[in-house]
Amino acid sequence: MDYLSNLNPQQREAVEYTDGPLMIIAGAGSGKTRVLTIRIAYLIHQKGVDPFQILSLTFTNKAANEMKQRIEKLIGLEARNTWMGTFHSVFAKILRVEAGRLGYPSNFTIYDTEDSKSLIRSIVKEKKLDDKVYKPSTVLSRISGAKNRLVSWEAYLNDPYIRSDDEAAMKPKMGELYKTYQERLFKSSAMDFDDLLFNTNVLFRDHPDALYKYQQRFRYVMVDEFQDTNLSQYLITKKLAAVHQNICVVGDDAQSIYAFRGADIQNILNFEKDYPDLHTVKLEQNYRSTKNIVHTANSIIAKNKAQLKKNIWTANDHGAPIELMKAASDNEEGRLVATTIFEEKNKLQLRNSDFAILYRTNSQSRALEEALRKMNINYRIIGGLSFYQRREIKDLMAYLRFVVNPSDEEAFKRIVNYPKRGIGDTSVEKILIAAYEHDIPIWEVITNASSFLSGRAVTSLEDFTTMVRSFAMEMQRKDAYEVASLVAKQSGILRELYEDKTIEGLNRYENVQELLNAIKEYVDGPENENKSLGAFLQEIALLTDEDQNKNNDDVVTLMTIHASKGLEFKFVFVVGLEEDLFPSQMMMQSREDLEEERRLFYVATTRAMERLYLTHAMTRYRYGRLLNCEPSRFLEELDPTYIKVTKKMDTSVGGFQFPGREGKNGFVGLKRPAIREGITAKVHTPSPDFKPSNTNNLAEGMKVEHPKFGFGLVMKVETEGANRKASIHFDNFGDKTLLLSFAKLRIV
Ligand code: ATP
Ligand code: MG
Repeated sequence: MDYLSNLNPQQREAVEYTDGPLMIIAGAGSGKTRVLTIRIAYLIHQKGVDPFQILSLTFTNKAANEMKQRIEKLIGLEARNTWMGTFHSVFAKILRVEAGRLGYPSNFTIYDTEDSKSLIRSIVKEKKLDDKVYKPSTVLSRISGAKNRLVSWEAYLNDPYIRSDDEAAMKPKMGELYKTYQERLFKSSAMDFDDLLFNTNVLFRDHPDALYKYQQRFRYVMVDEFQDTNLSQYLITKKLAAVHQNICVVGDDAQSIYAFRGADIQNILNFEKDYPDLHTVKLEQNYRSTKNIVHTANSIIAKNKAQLKKNIWTANDHGAPIELMKAASDNEEGRLVATTIFEEKNKLQLRNSDFAILYRTNSQSRALEEALRKMNINYRIIGGLSFYQRREIKDLMAYLRFVVNPSDEEAFKRIVNYPKRGIGDTSVEKILIAAYEHDIPIWEVITNASSFLSGRAVTSLEDFTTMVRSFAMEMQRKDAYEVASLVAKQSGILRELYEDKTIEGLNRYENVQELLNAIKEYVDGPENENKSLGAFLQEIALLTDEDQNKNNDDVVTLMTIHASKGLEFKFVFVVGLEEDLFPSQMMMQSREDLEEERRLFYVATTRAMERLYLTHAMTRYRYGRLLNCEPSRFLEELDPTYIKVTKKMDTSVGGFQFPGREGKNGFVGLKRPAIREGITAKVHTPSPDFKPSNTNNLAEGMKVEHPKFGFGLVMKVETEGANRKASIHFDNFGDKTLLLSFAKLRIV
């Protein structure tokens, strides 16, 4: 078959070694997933194996679908008959068939995380436990951790595994909660995500005939991204493969990034012990990336002590150097990335889908999204809602909307009882009906609520309207940021989120802070004359209402590094390389944690095929303050041979060069002066009557004033699609190319 001739000798060996246990340990981009794909085709096509007898487990559904499509291309429709999917999807399917053996009906429900938390919330309440200590998400993550280690509620109390003092203190009651939670799930004929794996283990342990059946069925078992399996998953594969021993696992210890969720890198090491006649294949040639990218990635991972020796190389070209870009602020970073995409795309005739932007935490997408929108670049966020669609952001925005416009019914519905203030659904319904029947605004109804509501609801509503009124009063005197901060605090939203100490809770809290930061930047922006809350909301509404071209596949991909595993893109931007952000302050408690962060950086850089950009901002708004940010230690660790530091700021949106001493790799090691001072020292002060003109008729030879660059002469105006640009020679700042859709210019 010609598909075999496209493999290197080691890859070919891995494909053709079909009988007996096989482990492929290989670096990023060395063709692990490709080998798995071709191996399946080979088994069916050359070895005559029935596709129904092949089970392949992937990390995401997306990966499974892609693999299936590729096999289909190689061998046709037969490919569809193989068992392929994530652990959860494959074993949910099996549990449906076998449910009866576990006392479940086959139509059992699968609870998602929200369902699970809501159930835990009720149980904690019933048991009269403190719901500030026994937070649903904390309780759930403890239960989930136990299940992934295969610790049942019966065994939980004697399980020695304890990570923290908090955990130790919670333990006695946790056992009880775990027990009741399982009983209630069972009564509701429901399983949560972790049960799907846990119960599969129970099934195979207690029902040898069932195990036998699946051992016979799956003569060939394959696992991609094996380094990120947890104990529960590991044991399932081990049991299934026990008879035929035709198990092939594929992984890269350098890319293990899910330890915080119970994945265990030891599974790779144990594998050799479990299968004494294990055959191991190493793949060391990288086909994905340029030499510069491969060398850079190698230099990153070399800093980790815990790793298996690998020598990754590539025959590909050197390619362009890795570009290191520093931005003055997070917004500037967003603009820098967006402009680079815009320019490179036009220069090299690329598609949006050739680009990916990777970040450490979801909240970083905000500045990037805004910059991309402003430049009309279509994008999609994978595995996370777009910033302004997130629940906590919508909640706070709803408050702000309602303060500005107390007839806003949708906003009212969102906030009237959030955070909880004892206004039940029935009362809300009555209010809405009254507003509808009398055709009067919500505000009028709720300020006269005593005429048709009674008791606690009335008092609570009065408190609510008093609060909203006080916000509205403040709005007359204060700017958008001051009002929004006040609302976030006094509504109780911040406290509510602050008290949730889980990773999700922290994320939500950070997101709300990030919204406040955005408002602060809006208020601080010299170009925004009207700093009122109303003006800000309008600006955002225009942003979010923009058509996002949902059916368009040609989009720039934005996602966390965790979500990018296994994928590849021609151009990759890894953003926010700053201390405390990446490596993340929250996740770093030990050397192991630092090494996991570093593996994450390795995963990020190895997604790039042709060009890799690493960016960091010198300042970032966090917690409503402009913080100076140190460049990430990961940047300092890079081998400078392959790197080009782009010192020049983004000229098309009018940047400046940050003054300071350059250290290794172009970084300033010492404390820097506050960036804002740096700007104001150089920047032009706009004339008192400065007002941006309509630039539709801007033409060569006109004199203009820019709020930052001062006076200049238009040299050229050009149209490129929807983006009109003007080249302007400024008296004090030299030549700049500005995008007219957002340059503020006064025609003099
Ligand atoms: P990761 O560790 O990121 O999951 P991987 O080891 O699974 O990477 P693949 O995604 O399978 O790597 O392959 C990386 C790229 O290299 C793909 O574009 C693949 O098509 C290409 N590739 C792999 N092997 C070869 C080969 N022998 N000849 C040409 N291209 C190859
Ligand atoms: Mg892969």
